[in-house]
Amino acid sequence: LASRDFHPDNTVINIKGVEIGGRELVVMGGPCAVESPEQIDEIARLVKAAGGQVLRGGAFKPRTGPYSFQGVGVEGLEMMAEAGKKHGLLTITEVMTPEYVDVCAEHADILQVGTRNMQNFDLLRKLGTIQTPVLLKRGFSATYDEFLNAAEYILAGGNPNVMLCERGIRTFETYTRNTLDLAAIPVLHQLSHLPVISDPSHGTGRRELVETMCKASVAAGADGLIVEMHTDPDNSMTGDGVQSLFPDQFANLLQDLEKLAPLC
Ligand code: PEP
Ligand code: MN
Repeated sequence: LASRDFHPDNTVINIKGVEIGGRELVVMGGPCAVESPEQIDEIARLVKAAGGQVLRGGAFKPRTGPYSFQGVGVEGLEMMAEAGKKHGLLTITEVMTPEYVDVCAEHADILQVGTRNMQNFDLLRKLGTIQTPVLLKRGFSATYDEFLNAAEYILAGGNPNVMLCERGIRTFETYTRNTLDLAAIPVLHQLSHLPVISDPSHGTGRRELVETMCKASVAAGADGLIVEMHTDPDNSMTGDGVQSLFPDQFANLLQDLEKLAPLC
């Protein structure tokens, strides 16, 4: 079902009037993690003012270590839903287990499956039983075929609203956190009809590379971008401050992107 052979035309996912996979570029921006109502409200305001369409923020964080900050949980979903509504933005948040799919779907417009859960088949099956759009991140060691098979689980369950997200893979290089596989964008478009989103924040792990890799992703045909932005990156509660743009960088980026492709 993910294959272009099966479905020659591009899938366009319409969420409350925002079309993902159509001719316009969708930009999702926000912090790695929802931290407080004030934080997410202020960042939502900045995302909207810059011209973004979707507010990102994790309430449940898949941390490498068990002693790291794990996210604020359901309260974070509420904080983000409120900020999204107030500022007229769609919202996207990560869901990590099948049990939390329903509550996340009640609060967010798009559910994100993180790189560490790309092959969490119980989670994928559960996401196939609802209609909420899913942004499926590529596993950091997954081939294109494994990635598309993961999407297939969701589609096969009956949810056609899947976007594929390239977020970098693990290579021998240590300068960058991951290696953003730009070729994945045209390859996935060739193999599949699903929208392709690029995540240069996790793909590089370095703020100073995010802008260039956003533009490169658009040149490679990305339908959208998901970008971390924080008002105080140095004090963010996850380790992702170093890859988060400052608000003015985010605003400048969107101005530049508008020259490359119309924003939604
Ligand atoms: C995130 O988006 O903050 C995140 C944890 O992403 P990934 O699953 O790609 O590491
Ligand atoms: Mn992050």
